[in-house]
Amino acid sequence: MDLIIARNRDDLVKARTGGEVALVPTMGALHEGHRSLIRLARARADRVVVSIFVNPLQFGPSEDFSRYPRTFDADLEVCRSEGVDVVFHPSAGDMYHPDRQVSLRSGRMGEIVEGASRPGHFDGVLTVVLKLFNLVQPHVAIFGQKDAQQLALIRRMVADLDVPVEIIGAPTVREPDGLALSSRNRYLSAADRQVALALSRALRAGAAEPVPSRIRAAAHAVLDAAGPELDVDYLVLVDPATFTEVQESYTGEAVLAVAAKVGSTRLIDNVTLTLNPT
Ligand code: AMP
Repeated sequence: MDLIIARNRDDLVKARTGGEVALVPTMGALHEGHRSLIRLARARADRVVVSIFVNPLQFGPSEDFSRYPRTFDADLEVCRSEGVDVVFHPSAGDMYHPDRQVSLRSGRMGEIVEGASRPGHFDGVLTVVLKLFNLVQPHVAIFGQKDAQQLALIRRMVADLDVPVEIIGAPTVREPDGLALSSRNRYLSAADRQVALALSRALRAGAAEPVPSRIRAAAHAVLDAAGPELDVDYLVLVDPATFTEVQESYTGEAVLAVAAKVGSTRLIDNVTLTLNPT
């Protein structure tokens, strides 16, 4: 079947059919990370819908909304080559009525870690994701572990609001040298890119240690050694479900997450590790 391009909500509703539907929400500028999500979706459902929407609600006033990469034609080629059934690419005006009043609040969990640096970001994410769920009515939706706090908050939203969709988390796809793929990597100069490698290197150094204090110290040491070109926002070791910092005696899965600016480009990365009883 040919790829259906739904450019507004009406087109999308017309494109609905029976069968199991998997949704992959994206902001476009698709790369191998997005492809891996689409492949998971393909394996889980009869029909795959990819949304491509740079959501103004999740960008702060001083963030990169206007310069966020928009590569729609190339994105369509990616979707065609991955056998996507429907691409949903609405305009902001179609998604958000000028008279809009009601939106979601992400709560305390949306105000910590990444949310502390980007006030309102997760409110915007949850609002658009719930709208996409209502419009597409997917059985499953795939999100990257790359945005670990986003994934945790979407799971929280689905549980708290009884949204009838299964959420699947997908592993982070990386360059061979460790850099996590991101649509924002295209902003990096060759020199920036070298600096940016400190993020994944710090996470690997942390993950090699057994207990929280040593994990944090090893990761911080790598970030500190990267020099002043790396402007670290946070490094945290948190419970994956709540994003609160774990104590020294914590056991089980934890997320070591980092955010930093290289030049004017803000990058995030994380790894999941398992803390065993000592
Ligand atoms: P974005 O277009 O950046 O909003 O991302 C759309 C989806 O792709 C989100 O669920 C992201 O977590 C996921 N994603 C982004 N980068 C990667 C990556 N390197 N590996 C796997 N998934 C990713």
